[in-house]
Amino acid sequence: MTQTPDLEAASRGLYIGGQWLPASGGATINVVDPSTEAVLATVPDATLADASAAVEAAAKAASGWRNMAPRKRSEILRRCFELMTERSEILATLISLENGKALRDARGEVAYAAEFFRWNAEEAVRITGEFGIAPAGANRIVVDYQPIGICLMITPWNFPAAMATRKIAPALAAGCTVILKPASETPLTAYSLAAIYEEAGVPPGVVNVLTTTAPGPLTSAILADPRVRKLSFTGSTGVGRALLAEAARHVISCAMELGGNAPFIVFDDADLDAALDGAMIAKMRNAGEACTAANRLYVQSGIHDAFVTGLVQRMEALQVGPGAETETECGPMITRKAVDKIERLVEDAIAKGARVVTGGARPNRPGFFYPPTVLTNASDDAEMAVEEIFGPVAPIYRFDDEAEVIARANDTEYGLAAYIFTRDLSKGLRVAGAVEAGMIGLNRGLVSDPAAPFGGVKQSGLGREGGQHHGIAEFMEAKYIATSF
Ligand code: NAP
Repeated sequence: MTQTPDLEAASRGLYIGGQWLPASGGATINVVDPSTEAVLATVPDATLADASAAVEAAAKAASGWRNMAPRKRSEILRRCFELMTERSEILATLISLENGKALRDARGEVAYAAEFFRWNAEEAVRITGEFGIAPAGANRIVVDYQPIGICLMITPWNFPAAMATRKIAPALAAGCTVILKPASETPLTAYSLAAIYEEAGVPPGVVNVLTTTAPGPLTSAILADPRVRKLSFTGSTGVGRALLAEAARHVISCAMELGGNAPFIVFDDADLDAALDGAMIAKMRNAGEACTAANRLYVQSGIHDAFVTGLVQRMEALQVGPGAETETECGPMITRKAVDKIERLVEDAIAKGARVVTGGARPNRPGFFYPPTVLTNASDDAEMAVEEIFGPVAPIYRFDDEAEVIARANDTEYGLAAYIFTRDLSKGLRVAGAVEAGMIGLNRGLVSDPAAPFGGVKQSGLGREGGQHHGIAEFMEAKYIATSF
């Protein structure tokens, strides 16, 4: 059953030092419903003065939070998980409204996002150090893990809850205080979650949330403050590169979760239904607006035609509509600009020899819709083989042998996720070893799991989020103490 979110509460102000404040310049940002193009709410447009207030608040709260007993911090994080779970339906509806994703995808996102609090509540009490004897025998080596300091977190619009909690929960578990700058398109979820953290007992200033139309200058100002020691960014590779350069000026530790161009490889010996089910998840979860989305579907010649037929049937059966309507399976894109980009990529692919089997034309209706689309005969020269499509378009590339498909899969600057479907496990593991990606779905279309290290190689990023120790380690520094006794 859907529930109506309180849009007024979700847009009541910047969240700084435990207070809800207007932007000091008085300006606001419109939040648009991509399903209807109507303005849902307005949120404050933070200035440099607001950014500086957020750093002050995070600094003021730092010592109390890092010195709080890990068990107490753990219980607060656990409460965040419980409250998110209790309010999952309202949060899911809010995500569907501001992001446009289908409610079923939003429900999945809330469960995933909440899980980072449960997982890190458990991690918070398991931060250990090291103790050993130096090889020369002269002294002991003690290694202590300490919170890194104030963290700036910047997140995208495609997973407004999960991209924030995947950073905030481990940072809080490690004992850090944070400033979150969510995407301008989807700030309401970030503010609603901040209210939940407050209710769960997160002290004022430990989490601060700022929305702005000037992310570049605000980020520069925050990173220039020597108390800020970590930049954790999720977004496009282009912005990530610029932020790495900015962080280098202050030698700030960076975690980068960037773009992807996932190959989805189906061998002749794959279980056809499993491959089709996997393709629908890897391609169509979030209507294709996922960094892990299958961007290039490589299908071996022997299974090619059956795969195309099955995929077209499944894509044509999808119910397209406003995200927050329960029957919707494929919602709109985030903005008109996103639809323009998809249209440009499809036109370019057609000009380079691709054939549209289904979809392929923008509908004449309000909202930023693009239909589920399947293209065959896609060419490696097409722009969509190089760029993220970030939409419900599945281009199918035919291949003949293993070495050829590995070379084509790796012919990209990205290396986030990849998918391989085969009944031959040794072949699957061999190809998984050869494909340059941080995460592989072997006979699975979904890889995300808070208990597994999420992240990419090559220009898809630096560092890992989630996982046994990886996620929390990003927010800690090792301190080595040499001592003798
Ligand atoms: P984006 O344009 O890079 O924006 C991401 C965030 O960065 C937003 O909060 C944005 O603020 C902010 N930003 C933009 N320019 C900035 C600047 N000069 N300085 C500081 N911050 C800046 O990416 P997006 O379009 O929102 O998200 C889609 C991208 O994210 C895709 O490439 C996708 O693959 C990637 N992604 C990666 C992962 C992963 O885990 N690897 C997960 C999800 C998404 P505004 O909203 O105000 O512009």
